[in-house]
Amino acid sequence: MKVMKFGGTSVGKPERMRQVSQLITADAESKIVVLSALSGTTNALVEIGNAISSSQREKAKELIDKLEAHYQSFIVELVKKPSSLAKAKAIVAEHFEFLTIILKISFSEALSKDILAQGELLSTKLFSVFLEENGIDHFLLPALEFMSIDSHDEPQINSIRNRLDMLLRQHSDKTLFITQGYICRNARGEVDNLKRGGSDYSASLIAAAITASVCEIWTDIDGMHNNDPRVVKKTVAIEQLSFEEAAELAYFGAKILHPASIWPAQFYKIPVRLLNTMQPEAKGTLITEEAGSEGVKAIAAKDGIIAINIRSSRMLLAYGFLRKIFEVFEKYRTPIDMITTSEVAVSITIESSAELKAIVRELEPFGTIEVEENHTIVSIVGNNLNSTPDILSKLFTALSPVPIRMVSYGGSKHNVSLLIPSAYKTQTLQLLNKGLFGLE
Ligand code: ASP
Ligand code: MG
Repeated sequence: MKVMKFGGTSVGKPERMRQVSQLITADAESKIVVLSALSGTTNALVEIGNAISSSQREKAKELIDKLEAHYQSFIVELVKKPSSLAKAKAIVAEHFEFLTIILKISFSEALSKDILAQGELLSTKLFSVFLEENGIDHFLLPALEFMSIDSHDEPQINSIRNRLDMLLRQHSDKTLFITQGYICRNARGEVDNLKRGGSDYSASLIAAAITASVCEIWTDIDGMHNNDPRVVKKTVAIEQLSFEEAAELAYFGAKILHPASIWPAQFYKIPVRLLNTMQPEAKGTLITEEAGSEGVKAIAAKDGIIAINIRSSRMLLAYGFLRKIFEVFEKYRTPIDMITTSEVAVSITIESSAELKAIVRELEPFGTIEVEENHTIVSIVGNNLNSTPDILSKLFTALSPVPIRMVSYGGSKHNVSLLIPSAYKTQTLQLLNKGLFGLE
């Protein structure tokens, strides 16, 4: 059995849904198809939630009406038979009535999650009507009945597996299952979600739970590219990556795959394939345990990084200093990306954080603190970079015009990371595209 996940743009137009229906019926293997909300919907739902929480009910009502109008015209194009249209209308009416009722009750965090869940519920139910109209037999698996997170927001893979197994066994006559990405239940049993972009995570959790033959992630680009196509002219798709390489790339800015979605696939050894809905014959990128080849494969960049420098002569020959510093970040649940040290100073990077002021305040007793905002981490990812000849000399030669603020090398065989001022990002990516890949 395999898992196929389609993102918002892959289901964002009626003709795209039609294309998805062709892709999921192209072979005979049984499958679970995971769908995102139609593109733009989750953003709209976030806005609706914000308007309600700030008591702007009229604005919320306007946003709800606008979104409903979008769905009304979507379904008219999606289905043909009057009976299918009636079904689709009833689904749209049900979910928008729900949103309208929410306007009347007092706002809570749990309610905002209910609002966010409407996107995936709508996309899957409407897709199901479309499949039915076209005589494609399937079963709509309710993600809220099997996808769950614990009190630390961590997915409960064993319970997910048990519940999913049971559901699949109850419908063992079916070979095609459709389900919602992103949404789940939390430890209190409320509707919750796996955070923005979380449908990829849903797909890989499901793939891990059923030990799928492959987890296919269908988007609108033909796999992971060697560099950011928005910044450099020429990029190429990467044929194969190891899980480690993919994790570094996904975390350090390659937007194509949600970073959390790597671990379930890696741990349960499920190959992941990144494919392009608009160009299904393209090879895409295969992510497996093996890297496929040696050397540098890709560059990714992550903006909005803050460097914090802590300088203290008390660090000299002292032990336990770093632990005390790290405890501050732990207390504020703020992940550290890069770290470099000298005997009397340590530099740490974090993503922009609402807790920055509090963190700095707690660090002050340890020494002189300097904070530099607007930085970018540029991550050079590949296989066995530690034994790739000339990698550092190539890097530094290519980047001689760029003021490099930090370097991290040796922590992983798969990554060299540089911290640079964000103003130099475009130039850095262009110089590296030339210096490392010989591309413009
Ligand atoms: N619809 C959700 C979002 O836009 C989840 C996803 O698309 O992966 O974040
Ligand atoms: Mg997505």
